[in-house]
Amino acid sequence: MDRNTANWRVFGKICCCLLLSLSSLNMLPGLAAAGQIASISKPAAQLIKDEGRQSAKGKKLAVIIDDLGNGMQGTEEIMALPVKVTVAVMPFLPTTEADARKAHEVGHDVLIHLPLEPKQGPTRWLGPGAILTKMSDEEVRKKVEAAIDNVPYAIGINNHMGSKVTGDERVMSIILDVCRERGLFFVDSRTNYRSIIFKLCKQKGMPQIKNDIFLDDVHTEAHISRQMDKVAEQVHAEGKCVTIGHVGTKGRKTAAVIKKYIPKLQGQGIEFVGISEMARDAKTPGQWPGGGIILP
Ligand SMILES: [Zn+2]
Repeated sequence: MDRNTANWRVFGKICCCLLLSLSSLNMLPGLAAAGQIASISKPAAQLIKDEGRQSAKGKKLAVIIDDLGNGMQGTEEIMALPVKVTVAVMPFLPTTEADARKAHEVGHDVLIHLPLEPKQGPTRWLGPGAILTKMSDEEVRKKVEAAIDNVPYAIGINNHMGSKVTGDERVMSIILDVCRERGLFFVDSRTNYRSIIFKLCKQKGMPQIKNDIFLDDVHTEAHISRQMDKVAEQVHAEGKCVTIGHVGTKGRKTAAVIKKYIPKLQGQGIEFVGISEMARDAKTPGQWPGGGIILP
C-alpha cells in the first residue's frame, strides 16, 4: 500500500471518528438516534468501562521507544506491550521495514527516527541516511524524503542524536518543511537544550511536541523505575507527559520496567496514548497546520 492510499485510509478513519463523536454530542441530529441505539445495545459493564476511560482523559502518557530498525534487544518485548506506545524506527537498516510493519499491525504508532548530526561524537554512529549541517538545501531535502519513503506507516519524525542540527535554523527549517508537505509532524527528542524546533514549528503552524523525560540514560532497572515515577508525577501535575526509552543493550530492562508500571499507572487514571494523540492536542486554535498534517 503506498503512502497516499494509507493517508486516505487514515482520513476515512478520522471522518468516521468525527462523525461518531459529533453524533454522540447530538451535533448531527439525524445520526443521534443511531448513536442512542448503539449505546443502549452496549452491555452495562462496557458502558462503565467507557465512562472510566473518559474520566481518565486529561491524564495522558505517550511512551516513545527509539532506535528500532536494527534487530535490537528488547524490540519483541516492546511490540508485545499491552498498551499503545510509539516506536521510532531508523531508516535504511536491516529490520526497518519489518519493525515498522509489525508495530503498525499491533496498534503502536510509528515515527521515523531520523539521524541528525550531533555536536560531539563521530558521524559514523549516526547510521545510514544521516543529515549533516554541511549538506546543501537540496541534499537535506532529498535525505529527508528518502527516509520518509523508507519507513512504512510513519506518522511523524523524531531525531536520533542531533544536538547540532536541531540548533541549525537552515537545516531544521528544510526538515520541517518536508514533514509538513508529507503530512507528518516532528517530535523534538530534546538532545539539545538550545533546540530551535519549537520556534520553527510555531512559525510554520505545526504542533509543538517534545520529549519531557529520558527513561533509560542509566542502564539499571532502579534508574528506569525512578524515571517512571517522575513521569507519573508529571502526568498528575500537568495532565500529560512524553517520555523516551530505547531498544538496544538496555532494551529488555526498559521494556520490563514499563510493563511493570502499566497496571500501577492505569490504576492512577493515566491513559497510555500514541504520540499522534499528543500531536492532535498540540494543535492550537488559529494555527492550522500548513500543508496538511494527516493523523490517524
Ligand atoms: Zn536514537
